[in-house]
Amino acid sequence: MRLNGIIIAIDGPTAAGKSTTAREVARQLGYRHLNTGAMYRALALYCLQWGVKDSSDKQIPELLERVYIDVDESAEVMLEGENVAKLLSAPEVAQLASALSTRSDVRTKLVAMQQEICRDGGFVLDGRDIATVVFPDAELKIFLVADEKIRAERRLKELAQQEIEVELQTLEQEIIERDKRDTERTNSPLKKADGAIEIDTSGLTIDDQVERIVELVKRI
Ligand code: C5P
Repeated sequence: MRLNGIIIAIDGPTAAGKSTTAREVARQLGYRHLNTGAMYRALALYCLQWGVKDSSDKQIPELLERVYIDVDESAEVMLEGENVAKLLSAPEVAQLASALSTRSDVRTKLVAMQQEICRDGGFVLDGRDIATVVFPDAELKIFLVADEKIRAERRLKELAQQEIEVELQTLEQEIIERDKRDTERTNSPLKKADGAIEIDTSGLTIDDQVERIVELVKRI
């Protein structure tokens, strides 16, 4: 057992409900939630602020050295000491985050930070490579999946709440592209880890998903 509890790894494709589920599971267990996608997005936001347009930009290694990404006491991701949560859902941030996440220098830096932040346990982490790379020794590994159309509809609702307007079809296309990039990249591709429990959330509510995971925790 780690000092503060177990590590729960929640991986899966984009918009499968990982973060919402992870946040609520953490709340019910009195754990903290680390949204690792937010770290890739915070880096992307920083790069965009420096005029980076794609993942082959020559400035990236230097920006990676300089960027200061951290978490506050509730494990909310901070960029240069500021809470930038509201800026991370923008489509251009999502696109660049996905592209940057194929680079090994980016992954090495962010994975080391994630391991350091969560090393004493008591964390629910969500991402793509948590159970395969970041914490292959996680006590509970969940792989969340859902139908593409349903994922696009969920993302549309989420964005609408933040007053970001996007066409459903555009979102679906983006989800397909990001899935392809996440599963086909050479560095830490998205895949179900050995020992991970797959949950298809297509027909489930967030409450159902959370309940299933909390039940699994009780059985450990
Ligand atoms: O989960 P979210 O969509 O916020 O992640 C943003 C991007 O960061 C994803 O498209 C994915 O490619 C990348 N990512 C990753 N590994 C993680 C978390 C996110 O490669 N652990």
